[in-house]
Parts: sequence; C-alpha cells; structure tokens
Amino acid sequence: MSRTIMAINAGSSSLKFQLLTLPAGTVLCQGVIERIGLNDAVFTLKQGEQKWQETRAIADHQQAATLLLEALLAHRIIPSLEAIDGVGHRVAHGGETFKDSVLITDAALAEIERLAELAPLHNPVNAAGIRIFRAVLPHTPAVAVFDTAFHQTLDQGAFIYPLPWRYYQELGIRRYGFHGTSHKYVSQLLAEKLGVPLSALRVVSCHLGNGSSLCAIKGGRSVNTSMGFTPQSGVMMGTRSGDIDPSILPWVAQREGKTPQQLNTLLNNESGLLGVSGVSHDYRDVEQAAKEGNPRAELALTLFAGRIRATIGSYIMQLGGIDALLFTGGIGENSARAREAICRDLHFLGLELDDGKNQRNATFIQADNALVKVAVINTNEELMIARDVMRIGLSQAAEVSV
Ligand code: ADP
Repeated sequence: MSRTIMAINAGSSSLKFQLLTLPAGTVLCQGVIERIGLNDAVFTLKQGEQKWQETRAIADHQQAATLLLEALLAHRIIPSLEAIDGVGHRVAHGGETFKDSVLITDAALAEIERLAELAPLHNPVNAAGIRIFRAVLPHTPAVAVFDTAFHQTLDQGAFIYPLPWRYYQELGIRRYGFHGTSHKYVSQLLAEKLGVPLSALRVVSCHLGNGSSLCAIKGGRSVNTSMGFTPQSGVMMGTRSGDIDPSILPWVAQREGKTPQQLNTLLNNESGLLGVSGVSHDYRDVEQAAKEGNPRAELALTLFAGRIRATIGSYIMQLGGIDALLFTGGIGENSARAREAICRDLHFLGLELDDGKNQRNATFIQADNALVKVAVINTNEELMIARDVMRIGLSQAAEVSV
C-alpha cells in the first residue's frame, strides 16, 4: 500500500523538507525554508519542474512549519493534512542510547533533548522541529533518524579515545561518527547494484560534501568512521580542519588570547579548503582556481585527497582488504578530479579507475581488470528517513492500534 511520508531536516535557521510516496520513493515535492528568524526568509518549494519561491518574514520554526503545511494544501500537493501518513525527522545526535531510528514518544523526545549536551547546536532545533510537527499532526506517527545510529556498531577499539577513562565514563567523550544515514543508504544500494549481499562485502564509503566523512563497513556494519566526538574530526572539509595536532589549540589560545568559542570558529568555519586555499570553501571554486594556476588552491586539493587516501589506507588495514570503494556527496558524486587524485597509483591494491567512466560519473568507474569495484552513488538521506518511517513508525503504529 502506498504511503505519503514527510522527511524533515531542521537546522538552526533552516527547514528542509521532502514529501515522498513509499515504497516507490517518488518525490511529490521538496524544498527549503532558509533564513528563519529574519525579515527576508526565503521559502522555496519545488514540485517536478515547477518551482515557487517567496521572500517574507518568518519569525521561527513554528511559523515555517505552518507555512509549509499551508503551502502543500494551497498548491494541492496533498488534499488534507491527514494525507500525510508519517513524518521522519533527521536528528544529529543519538548518543549511546539510539542504535537505530526510533518511534517518537515523550520519552524518546526527552532523551533527544538530554543529548543536546553532546550536540548543542543541532539537537535542540531537531527536537523543536519534532515538537512543532507533533503539535500540528498529533495523530501522525513520527520517527527520529539519527546521524550517529549506524555507527553504534563500532567496538571500543574504534570508539575510545586514549584519554583518562573518566572522560568517556562521566562525560561521554568517545567517537560517535555522523553521516550514518548516508553511509548506510549508499552501501545498501551498492550491494543491490553489485547483486551481492552486503553481508559479504568490505566497503569504504567516502561521503564528500561540505562536510566529509569516511566509513569502513564490514558485512553491512560500520566498524570505523572518520568523524568523531563531533563532526569536526577526520578528513579535511570545506571549512573544517579535520584532524590536527591537538596541542595547536592550547598554543593558539595562549598566544592569541582566543576563547573556546573562537577556537571552535577557527576550526569549524575558517579552516579546510577555505583556510588553505584562501579562495573558497566550495570544492568547485577551488578546482577552478587551481586550474587557473593558484598554488594554494592546488595545495588545498592535494591535502584534501591526501587525507582521504590516508584514511582509506587505514580502513583497508582494519577491514583486512577491500571489495568496493564508494563515492558519494556533492564532491564524491561530481568531481572526477577528486576521485582520480584519491585513487591514483593504487594498482598494488587492485584499485584502478577507468578514466572515461570516471569522467562520465558512471556508477562503476573501476578499470575492467581491477579487483576492487569503485562506485559513484548519489546519496538520498530523505529516502532513507522515509523508509525508516515505514519500517519503524508505520509498522509499530499499526501494532499499537490493533
Ligand atoms: P552538504 O555537505 O552541504 O550536503 P553537498 O553534498 O551538496 O554538501 O556537497 C557540496 C560540495 O560539492 C561543494 O564543495 C561543491 O563545490 C561540491 N560540488 C558540487 N558539484 C560539483 C562538481 N560538479 N564538481 C566538483 N565539486 C562539486
């Protein structure tokens, strides 16, 4: 039976949404409300080729959600709010509590709010989004889908930091990992496309976008991932440094009198591709500048690929070999140059690209005789969220109502 599911991704000043029918996965409409809280907020709604855009004052997420639901009715995308069978919410942090997506109850919501101490910028807005949609659609099952949940299969050898034990025990400082929904989705799709069960595969998944992370997947389970306690660690990103010598921070704090907040800004907003190139955080811009001969842009691209290669190498060691390397995210899906730089001179691992297929962003881009499959797969976190609403929200809700 076909169901209509809303996937919601609430950010600090934005609300992204997609309305899908499942199991087909057809997108009925999608869009984003940006600059929430300002007088010139922008509401964009797309239905197929049609696009509506309005700039207006939107005070808060409550008003944004109300406007969204009104627009769905006004544009006759749905006949009534009862036509929405379930709502899925992307939630940043599930801590050690949530190992899978969960049906939202009062207790689950309270726990998401408690976990705000681990994700102070994200969980409170995610929780606010959940409350708002619960108020407007009180009888519609809602499911929380966590960026961290897929990585709850990591063992202590992968998630413990070598700090005094009490920092883990009392403060919960450990590797959590993020982008889990994306890594899970693309690895499942890879197995389908290969016609091989995921349980038989050793995969390294590279989600390369503004935020980037890698994930080592064995038999469908995440066994390591490059983001850690926060989404700041691991490989180099658009504006984030990724891993650096930790003692740089106290040194800079002392030398320049920076506060913890200022250090966070330095690492999160001013580093990465932007910091090194001085050109842009956007990979395309940096690629263009490098093409025009900018040496720091060239260096930024070299660092970017180098850190990913180092991580892939360590994951191949951990996995005891690799069957497939997976590229996704805006850079992974679109940049032949990035993929070429990451896979260069790896014939000794059985990893070799077919240049023509790589340039065309084909689904499989390895050379004919290469042992390791290299795949380019578009991520679709909204579809994964909607599927989890079907799997968890609608089946459990049905059980409850029996
Ligand atoms: P987010 O992490 O915000 O979801 P995306 O996954 O959309 O980001 O990825 C954005 C990144 O993808 C940007 O750095 C952008 O430059 C890069 N990108 C998008 N298209 C291309 C392209 N054709 N070539 C190279 N990089 C691209």
